[in-house]
Amino acid sequence: MELLYVIIALIAGSVGSVGLAALMLLLPDRKLDNVATLLMYLAGGTLLGAAFLGMMPKGISMIGAQPMMLAVLSGIMFFFLLEKFILWRTCGNAECERHKHAAVPIILIGDAFHNAIDGIVIAASFLTSFELGVFATLSVMMHEIPQELGDFGILLKSGLSRKKAIWFNVLSGSTALLTGIIAYYTLEAMQSLIPYALALSAASFLYIALADLIPEMHRKSSVKSSLIQFGLILTGILLIYIILIIK
Ligand SMILES: [Zn+2]
Repeated sequence: MELLYVIIALIAGSVGSVGLAALMLLLPDRKLDNVATLLMYLAGGTLLGAAFLGMMPKGISMIGAQPMMLAVLSGIMFFFLLEKFILWRTCGNAECERHKHAAVPIILIGDAFHNAIDGIVIAASFLTSFELGVFATLSVMMHEIPQELGDFGILLKSGLSRKKAIWFNVLSGSTALLTGIIAYYTLEAMQSLIPYALALSAASFLYIALADLIPEMHRKSSVKSSLIQFGLILTGILLIYIILIIK
């Protein structure tokens, strides 16, 4: 039964995100931009909430505070190096540094790696608790949809047909399904690895939120944008807090 949840969540997080992003391409440009931006703000909050309130406390209860924090810290350093080598970044617009400077194959390879980690995150979260699994999946979808939209923009601009662009994104998303199922069986067989998978998940979520989404948010500095950003990050955090803590 649990495996079924994980598979549904993995499909939702990978192919589902690409599908929703593809559907959103039907919206008029301005609306599309707005929805993607709001989703990104909300993702900032749910990623931080899931890492701080779900994954890290759970890991600490399993292996103790210092080993868990050391593992999270190692994860952050790992993602720093990963970004150096393969431009592992999410960004929702085609004008960002990553999209401006990276060639199409690099973007697709970087995404495939990124989605592979998302798959592990989803599997590890479901093996910890159902609620955490649901939130991890939602957090993945909320940052993946703007990401896929940015990718569509760049793939279409580089001359790919719509159909091919969607197909390539589905393909790079399917790595999540593969690593997610492998992680599920590995973690189920070796329960002692679960806290370390949670640490990697927390590090990935913290890295995306703090090193990636929030710097992107600071590019918009009007009072109105800032208030909307703060409000939606807080909403994302509260959403996780209410369900995980007062459940
Ligand atoms: Zn992702």
